[in-house]
Amino acid sequence: MSISQLARSIKESATLKLNETAAILRDKGEPVIHLGGGEPKGRAPIDAITTASSMMVTGEVRYSPADGIPSLKKAIIRYTEECYNRVVTPANVIASSGAKQSIMVALQTLLEPKDEVIFAAPYWVSYPEMVKLAGGVPVVVTPEDGTFQPTIEEFAALVGSYTKAIIINSPNNPSGVMYKKDFIAELVQFCEKKGIYLIMDDTYNRLVFDGQAPINCYEFAKDFSEHSKLIVINCVSKMYAMTGFRIGWTVAAKEIVQAMTNIQSQQTSGPATPSQWAAVGALTGVQSSIDGLRMTLENARNVMIARLNMIPGVKVVKPNGTFYCFPDFSAYEKDSAKLCQMLLDKVRVVTVPGKEFGMDGHLRLSYCGSLKEIKEGVERIQWAIDPNSPNELYLGDRKLVRDWA
Ligand code: GLU
Repeated sequence: MSISQLARSIKESATLKLNETAAILRDKGEPVIHLGGGEPKGRAPIDAITTASSMMVTGEVRYSPADGIPSLKKAIIRYTEECYNRVVTPANVIASSGAKQSIMVALQTLLEPKDEVIFAAPYWVSYPEMVKLAGGVPVVVTPEDGTFQPTIEEFAALVGSYTKAIIINSPNNPSGVMYKKDFIAELVQFCEKKGIYLIMDDTYNRLVFDGQAPINCYEFAKDFSEHSKLIVINCVSKMYAMTGFRIGWTVAAKEIVQAMTNIQSQQTSGPATPSQWAAVGALTGVQSSIDGLRMTLENARNVMIARLNMIPGVKVVKPNGTFYCFPDFSAYEKDSAKLCQMLLDKVRVVTVPGKEFGMDGHLRLSYCGSLKEIKEGVERIQWAIDPNSPNELYLGDRKLVRDWA
């Protein structure tokens, strides 16, 4: 068997793997609480379903153009104007099979061998692997302990002659923290000045709490000509609870979009046509589901943070967006993979180890499940790690007895 060196260097996606683990255990009837998931639990908007269904019933499901069907590009243009106040043309837009493909194809479009791409820890699990797959070298900024807020100086210190791009994901997966507006403003201008591409992974842009407005990166960009360095990526996955439809998109200078389209046309062709119609339905339909989701998540965030704060020694930064938080459990266990495994084995709670996001000692916990699951999940975690917990815990009618330190 001859597996390439590149393939051997690529890790499996921890987030997807843990989704699978949770599903397998559930199928076996185990009382699993999945706090590791990265998807809202609600249904896709009805407009998404009806638009895709009326296309499906014709039975004529054909290839789409490699960069997406014109109706979707039109809907994306409108979204960009409404949410970012930026007027773009179809030549600036390419739809892909999820934001994951958008990021991957953007990196393949930009990187020469050995080019460096900088991003901040904690980072989304797939960034380092995607950069490697595109032939580049991942470079990680680690913000000052406990803040999750990188600074422009930390990025500037790592910029060198091989730096091709910076990736920013704010609000951030896994910390849930929205970066400061001043930082985004400085970074957009810094990248323009230095000629570095700035990939804004705005997947969670609309999911911000406490009455705050989403940050609009275009506001700080002088340039949106063919020389623009700003590449903005979005998707329907999180804001419309449409993860399985796999529709994301990129807005960028037309030369970049053209090159991305060429790559995509050889790689996967355009995204699945029914999914694109579903995205058209979501983007052009009634938008109230986003507000509903945001309110549900904000409430769930409050419940999870209040419950986590009851565990002595656990430090948690209150997230102001997404549906994740990233508590520090190092007072109990510094090896996050070991802790994650222990929680799965002992109390059947699924989490994602901080190590996978470039920050050990932490776990990523999601609050996109029910309030009951959130409360019970954190209670089980406390029971498993806090030596002052009672000796016994019931998972349904299964009695657990603490027999570990
Ligand atoms: N983005 C989600 C997560 O971080 C979905 C899984 C994935 O594609 O990584 O859990």
